[in-house]
Amino acid sequence: MDIHEYQAKELLSNFGVAVPPGALAYSPEQAAYRARELGGEKWIVKAQIHAGGRGKAGGVKLCANEHEIEAACEDMFGKKLVTHQTGPEGKGIYRVYVEGAVPIEQEYYLGFVMDRSSQRVMIVASAEGGMEIEEISASKPDSIVRSTVEPAVGLQNFQAREIAFNLGIAPGLIPQMVRTLQGCYRAFTDLDATMVEINPLVVTGDDRVIALDAKMTFDDNALFRHPQISELRDKSQEDPRESRAADRGLSYVGLDGKIGCIVNGAGLAMATMDTIMLAGGEPANFLDIGGGATPERVAKAFRLVMSDQNVQAVLVNIFAGINRCDWVADGVVQALKDVQVDVPVIVRLAGNNVEEGQKILAQSGLPIIRANTLMEAAERAVGAWQNDTTLGTQLKVAK
Ligand code: ADP
Ligand code: MG
Repeated sequence: MDIHEYQAKELLSNFGVAVPPGALAYSPEQAAYRARELGGEKWIVKAQIHAGGRGKAGGVKLCANEHEIEAACEDMFGKKLVTHQTGPEGKGIYRVYVEGAVPIEQEYYLGFVMDRSSQRVMIVASAEGGMEIEEISASKPDSIVRSTVEPAVGLQNFQAREIAFNLGIAPGLIPQMVRTLQGCYRAFTDLDATMVEINPLVVTGDDRVIALDAKMTFDDNALFRHPQISELRDKSQEDPRESRAADRGLSYVGLDGKIGCIVNGAGLAMATMDTIMLAGGEPANFLDIGGGATPERVAKAFRLVMSDQNVQAVLVNIFAGINRCDWVADGVVQALKDVQVDVPVIVRLAGNNVEEGQKILAQSGLPIIRANTLMEAAERAVGAWQNDTTLGTQLKVAK
């Protein structure tokens, strides 16, 4: 789960990371009022969306008076901000953060990520802040400092100092840098984050080390341990298909293709998507209905997949290990009776009680296209989708 910059800054400041004074606003008037409350002479108005790259896309503006703040906000509120991280559809701006402008002397990049090969938290830093890490690693790979943390002892002060030295931080600022690194590391581990990124972390003209931007991502599977973090979720920033699925306990990832997939198990879902690609199609989603595929769950999955306008065929691929194919088939038949499905449906069942399952599908009287192997299922799904869209055949399942 992602959160907004202002939320990440508040969390990190609780762990000792210095951030500029700032306040949230939901309207241009409120933003101007917030600036007056904050005091100072210059402010930065920042669109709060779950994506970076806002600066270059007009989502971060320097303002010198209330009039400019209101004007900057008028340009932002209610608009979709398109940055290189949002995709072409952009993300809606419904909140802005007003912050005191900080006199920047030097910008640094600081990131904490999970390094899966070493199974450690890895700190990635660079004195080339302001750019995205992808750009830095392409154009200035030598500037990147990497350091992995031994989990048994946590981030050690000497290690944090070493990172600071390697970044060329002035000796007098090293204690502040160590505090920042330690704060981020503790926030990362204590809150079950999967990513903490400060870009830029800056050194100011008056010798302070301050986080000007902050991004945090959390492990969804650990959110139950952090109700205060779960509350920070902002559905306006999520793919509506994915948030609907999360609300229903299904794991769903929306993709760009036309073939909806209902599968049990992430591994089988991956294999199904690969096979669809191999057969010349593209998956519209990744939906794992999990182990206990009850008829209700299958119906929920159908509803979810059918709510995606892009879906032009549905492939159900279930391997019944703990499940039973006859129950799954019952679920599919029930779902097709309950849910309006007007695109071809292809079902491949394997595993426990597969013959029973096939019989239920065959006797249902519904125009379900059956397949025995994964390849066959993918080919039939792609074939039915192509026929359906080009010829408008009667392979449609009506209510
Ligand atoms: P994004 O990464 O989405 O573009 P940032 O928060 O990093 O957004 O802001 C973009 C740039 O704006 C920063 O690299 C920094 O140069 C400048 N900036 C952001 N916040 C402040 C601030 N409070 N004071 C001065 N400059 C800022
Ligand atoms: Mg940034």
